[in-house]
Amino acid sequence: MTVSRRDFITTALAGSVAVGLSTDAGATQESSEKKNKEKHAAKLPIIICAANGYNYLDQAYAFLSGGGDTLDAALKVVQGPENDPNDESVGLGGHPNEEGVVELDACCMHGPTRTAGSVGGVRNIKNVSLLSNTVRLHTGHIMLVGEGAERFAVAQGFQRENLLTDKSRKEWLLWKETHSDWWGPGIDSPDWRKRFADPTRAGIDEDEWELRIRRMEQVAAEIGIPSGLRMEVIRCVIFPPTGTIHCSALNEKAEISGCTTTSGLAWKIPGRVGDSPIIGAGCYTDQDVGSAGATGNGEENIKVAGAHTIVENMRHGMSPLEAGMDALKRIVRNHNGDKERLQFVDMVYYILGKDGAYAGVSLWEGYETGKPHQIAVHDGNRRLEKTVNLFAGASQSWPPVRRLS
Ligand code: ASP
Repeated sequence: MTVSRRDFITTALAGSVAVGLSTDAGATQESSEKKNKEKHAAKLPIIICAANGYNYLDQAYAFLSGGGDTLDAALKVVQGPENDPNDESVGLGGHPNEEGVVELDACCMHGPTRTAGSVGGVRNIKNVSLLSNTVRLHTGHIMLVGEGAERFAVAQGFQRENLLTDKSRKEWLLWKETHSDWWGPGIDSPDWRKRFADPTRAGIDEDEWELRIRRMEQVAAEIGIPSGLRMEVIRCVIFPPTGTIHCSALNEKAEISGCTTTSGLAWKIPGRVGDSPIIGAGCYTDQDVGSAGATGNGEENIKVAGAHTIVENMRHGMSPLEAGMDALKRIVRNHNGDKERLQFVDMVYYILGKDGAYAGVSLWEGYETGKPHQIAVHDGNRRLEKTVNLFAGASQSWPPVRRLS
């Protein structure tokens, strides 16, 4: 993807404007819920996942249709992005932490046996989804983290490898030199406005963008980032892409499983663990009800135990869409409905009921206007569908871009 400076500034500012004009999608939600229910009539087997799993659905679907286990099918999907050095949100090539080290998180739940495994903050091991499954199968524990998880992986035959690609390393260098300011109030803090140059307003104007981008272009050139890639890399630094992949699979016997894997938030503080490996937040599967998973701001999702909340909502009779919307509304409630703050939260839920009904829901339409969040589905027909969003407009990245000194 090549992005010109002009496009970049325009789309970034357009995003802010769209947020400013956004209206609650509640009014349209009811009718889209109806449509969604009709559209999502059950067809088994079925696999749902985040959009970055789309290319890997065919082989996993063939495996599942041929009688393969539901968790093994989901793991087949998520290994695709884990092995792909160009997917910078998962596994090999994932964005590193603030010290330039890739740290991965994953978890899985196997519905038929009601078992789970999880790993957090794992370095040097690419397929952490498989590692979480190995924890499930070969230990009496549920969750292993850090060095212990890495040593366990090696003992189990996983290979240590360098997960930092040259591209990710250069992006990290650019971030380090121009943006490394994680410490300080987050959106949770009463002092959140202190992150802005002008604490009376949560935005920046076009001149500030121009200046900042120009400075970043200079640093990017010094680091050796080719000119054609510079705007794309700058975008990654300013708007660290959340990515991750969740996948849930359901077979004709109504057995269901799920897994989630990620390199987590780009440029995080070493040791930071997000929602992805947290059973009940990044993924939750209950053989009696269904399965759900999340991508987006892990911190916000942990506070509402998103995946578990959704499955419990379905247990009490909600459709996948209603269950997901309710979880999103809990995030909104945690910020007293303040959209000025919520514009910095991005959240997508992928939901599959035990009857095969499914939904993809998101807090905002996408990271950028015109590029909606999507859910990938395979029930014999592989496709991408736009998620149903609670708010109109695009989310913005946190921390906000600050005035150049
Ligand atoms: N949820 C992940 C985390 O917070 C990030 C993501 O989905 O991209 O670590």
